[in-house]
Amino acid sequence: MNCPACRAEVESRPLHRYSTSQAAAHFCPPSRDADRFARLQAAVRRIWNADAAEVFVCQGCGFGFGWPHVGGDEEYYSILHEQAGYPSDRWEYRLTNSKVLSRWPAGGAILDVGTGDGSFLKRLGPAWTRHATEGSDTTRERLRREGIRCFGSTTDAVAEAAGTFQAVTMFQVLEHVAAFDDLLADCRSLLRPGGVIAISVPLAQAMFDQERLTGCQDMIPNHINKWSPEALAVVLRRAGFEPEPAIVEPGSVREGLYRASLMTRAQAASSPGSLASRAYGIRSRPARIAVLAALSGGNLLASLPSLPALMTGSSFLMIGHKPAPTG
Ligand SMILES: [Zn+2]
Repeated sequence: MNCPACRAEVESRPLHRYSTSQAAAHFCPPSRDADRFARLQAAVRRIWNADAAEVFVCQGCGFGFGWPHVGGDEEYYSILHEQAGYPSDRWEYRLTNSKVLSRWPAGGAILDVGTGDGSFLKRLGPAWTRHATEGSDTTRERLRREGIRCFGSTTDAVAEAAGTFQAVTMFQVLEHVAAFDDLLADCRSLLRPGGVIAISVPLAQAMFDQERLTGCQDMIPNHINKWSPEALAVVLRRAGFEPEPAIVEPGSVREGLYRASLMTRAQAASSPGSLASRAYGIRSRPARIAVLAALSGGNLLASLPSLPALMTGSSFLMIGHKPAPTG
């Protein structure tokens, strides 16, 4: 097949092969919730239209991708989100303020693609007219009540508001989307000439390191795209943007603690009889969190020699410019 990013022929063997059972147990071990596990597995099988899928890495641009190259759908994410929450603060929010939005001291119009609970937009001052795309009806309704104008998709936004935005932001979205060329083309249409897009995604190398160091897979069909800065620059140029060099997230103790928790999760997903697996089955939430934290602390101590690698940043931000007409 061809690399979805740089389009070169990919001839290497797959990096991973996952069964639907592995893909479901990664997010919900059967010991935690057998019914939810079964529903998740059925959703993955439907998405793949097969009992297994693979991950390949392009030797040309470093892009990793799930194959078949198809992302999770609404049903898949509705099952995942029964347990997950959105982070309310991320390092790239501050960076986007200082590197992008500061170019317009008087503010302007901004669109945040796949905004989640709108935590980035809510941090902005009154100079910015806030817009978002969000797939969920209930989330859109809540965001509207909070003064954020919402579209169901970038396609809807292009129909109503092409060429109106100084800035388009897209945080931790592009790793989930198979049709990323169409999405970036929409973003370009939405920007004014001279406008700027800011994109953050997980860093492919950090994901591969995480798998090696923690045993916790960067599982498909959630992250079907594993972006290297080179791959993202290629697709941004193809969409008509001029990309700046990537800015990689700084390392932190928080990353180290998070990766220790991933080790615990990997143990639970891979061995049903393990302590970690049984811990996920504890019904009382405070007790479950306490036991999982203790197990993660043990994992962190056991991997002290790899601590610097465990603490490295896991995402990068890339800024792209929509050229202004010259002459
Ligand atoms: Zn490639």
